[in-house]
Amino acid sequence: MDLRFCDTLSRKERTLSPTRGRPLQMYVCGPTVYSASHVGHARAYLVFDTVRRFFLAQGQPLRHIQNITDFEDKITRRAIQEGISWEELSRREARGFFGRMGELNILRPDATPASSHYVRSMIALIRRMERKGYTYTRRGAVYFDASRSIGSSNFSADEFLSAHAVPEPGGEALPEAEDPRDFVLWKPTRPPAPSWPSPWSRGMPGWHIECYAMASRYLDLPMDLHGGGLDLIFPHHYAENLISTALRGTPFAQHFLHNAFVTMDARKMAKSTGSLVTIREALETVSPGGLRSYLLSRRYDQNLEYSTYEAVQRDGEWELDQCTLVDLVRGNGGEGYPVSRLEGRFDEVLAAVGNHLGTNAAMRTVHEIAEDIRRSGYTRLARGERTAGRRTLARYELLLGLPLTVRSEAQ
Ligand SMILES: [Zn+2]
Repeated sequence: MDLRFCDTLSRKERTLSPTRGRPLQMYVCGPTVYSASHVGHARAYLVFDTVRRFFLAQGQPLRHIQNITDFEDKITRRAIQEGISWEELSRREARGFFGRMGELNILRPDATPASSHYVRSMIALIRRMERKGYTYTRRGAVYFDASRSIGSSNFSADEFLSAHAVPEPGGEALPEAEDPRDFVLWKPTRPPAPSWPSPWSRGMPGWHIECYAMASRYLDLPMDLHGGGLDLIFPHHYAENLISTALRGTPFAQHFLHNAFVTMDARKMAKSTGSLVTIREALETVSPGGLRSYLLSRRYDQNLEYSTYEAVQRDGEWELDQCTLVDLVRGNGGEGYPVSRLEGRFDEVLAAVGNHLGTNAAMRTVHEIAEDIRRSGYTRLARGERTAGRRTLARYELLLGLPLTVRSEAQ
């Protein structure tokens, strides 16, 4: 079954199809690790976990790469405040990030490269662009000259320049770029900020070259799917496309998929504004499965206004549905709920996810199945159907990442 979605680059509906053999390739922009992950992060990575699970559930391998940005101004500032090195802080926060993702049953990507390990590759890529005439240098900083770029489709810089966007971290006072569409590839830095030697100055790479360097190390470009939050379209994914066009004549990816936000009081949940609920805080009131189920209850391209009340309510509904399903496959004998009714609706749930990642519709169907079981009056499967029942529910589990055959989480 294909995944149908709106490709944010072409703004058209596209499909991603199982390839029968070759793994699909996906790169997701990972977190900048300097403080605890919040519910907005959980939702973003859950969206791409769902893409992966949609194909895994059909036996289609998908290579999933997601970086860790482990050096950046905010990391440096926080490390200074805490009196530790940026390496120590970013290692600790990266551990915390993967811990929280694991609690929410978000599959660990196949590789999670940390930016600081790829600085030499980034320097080599910048030199290649320099030799091709795509860059200019100002007092030790190297800029990509966007006016030199030709051909190849890209996001519209003019449209996004004024829109909400995650800006390139400023760092020390950088010389002005010649054009607002230009972006920094290398910038000079001084301790305690991280710095590496380079042909231009002692400093650090710009943000956009990081993901290009790591993606090109692990994947064949253009990859099948590149993802992140909507606020990464400009300048980040715009810049990655320019870099890719300069170096290899193609956009970075064949398709782009961007998730909407979790909001609080209609503002995007973000570390930088402090309007957030950390995953740990959320898990004090709802179970991991309940939080996952709540986040899946809204389609990826619609904002979700976080409400503790709704999360708790969803957690209760989820717990009841989970109990119904887990109890059903615990036993069998005599008359019971026919496994064919469980099997029969799996494709419906898969199709819901394949239709623009309609996890909301998928979760509704799971709820209907649980209600159907409760209405039937049976609390077990029919004789001889237990193995088939468990196997079927395991398919639902793989697709949705929710425990349905065992209550493996603390309630
Ligand atoms: Zn990125």
